[in-house]
Amino acid sequence: MEDWQKLLHASATTGSALQAHFPIDTTVLERVTAVYPMRINPYYLGLIRDQDDPLGKQAIPDIRELTDTVCVADPLAEERLSPTPLIVHKYPDRVLFLVSNQCAMYCRFCTRKRLVGTAAMRITDDLLHQGLDYIRRHPTIREVLVSGGDPLLLPDDRIDALLAALRAIPTVEIIRIGSRVPCTLPMRITDRLAAILKKYHPLYLNTHFNHPAEITAEAAAACTRLADAGIPLGSQTVLLRGVNDDLATIRTLMRALLRIRVKPYYLFQADLTRGTDHFRTPVRAGIAIMRGLYGHLSGMAVPTFALDAPGGKGKIPLTPQYILQHGDGLVFANYRGETCTYPESGDPC
Ligand SMILES: *Cc1c(COP(=O)(O)O)cnc(C)c1O
Ligand code: SF4
Repeated sequence: MEDWQKLLHASATTGSALQAHFPIDTTVLERVTAVYPMRINPYYLGLIRDQDDPLGKQAIPDIRELTDTVCVADPLAEERLSPTPLIVHKYPDRVLFLVSNQCAMYCRFCTRKRLVGTAAMRITDDLLHQGLDYIRRHPTIREVLVSGGDPLLLPDDRIDALLAALRAIPTVEIIRIGSRVPCTLPMRITDRLAAILKKYHPLYLNTHFNHPAEITAEAAAACTRLADAGIPLGSQTVLLRGVNDDLATIRTLMRALLRIRVKPYYLFQADLTRGTDHFRTPVRAGIAIMRGLYGHLSGMAVPTFALDAPGGKGKIPLTPQYILQHGDGLVFANYRGETCTYPESGDPC
């Protein structure tokens, strides 16, 4: 067993395991985990100082996961958009390929919380082959987003074989891996894994950090290993109430990501996933945070704020309103709130 596999094996998955660390109600916890599993590996557990801190909230079950009456099981209609079990095909030129049902930590706010870590998400060689066949038969698919669960929890040889099979499809130009392990179990990013990934360029990796306290020396080392293998790194962040829904936290996080060579990609408005309503923030709070980013920090540190429209309608960018008037010429506000104009060609300057 590799070191990361030993850590994963030692994860807290029950109330009694967690009770050794935090004063939790094990009865409540076990009611929640009967529906939505818990897994907190020793690395991530070690970063949680208090069960209600921003990392504890992401990892430790809450009774409100069972009492949410607002949200829905499959908010992005991924089941309707799934032509074959492990593929979600929403956009013409790219698909999601769900190759793993395991994660190094089960995030309480996960959009696929009805599936990850449960028997409802069954992944077999036969289904993987059906997914590959679908991609082969649809040459308009230029990019495959390998996701799950977390694809990097698969053993090295499985990852190698899967990427080789994707690379053998000539119409697949870009492989993008979606993985939270650089944040939740960075020791999974071994030199051996980086050497495997490096064989399949152009390969991009998008990870997922939600709080500056997740940017540790271990996470930085994992990202360095990937970046040194020539893999461009991006990160998505989910805006979560009580975790990161304030300008100072988001600014600090975005700057810290750039320092570990990760380009902030998306900042997501939380999906309408059943069991996660207590994490949702008002849309206007996210837009206000974006106003505090544009112009105030390096453009490279600014993600796109987006919501994934209910019913599988796609990601919608949400931008503060800088255009004040657009008639003959443009009247707009700059990042400091000053009104400016830009004449169109032919108009007086
Ligand atoms: C988010 C998503 C993508 C990727 O969208 P990008 O804007 O390219 O990051 C692709 N397919 C599905 C089904 C998605 O939900
Ligand atoms: S790592 Fe991603 S897929 Fe896994 S539980 Fe967290 S949000 Fe969901």
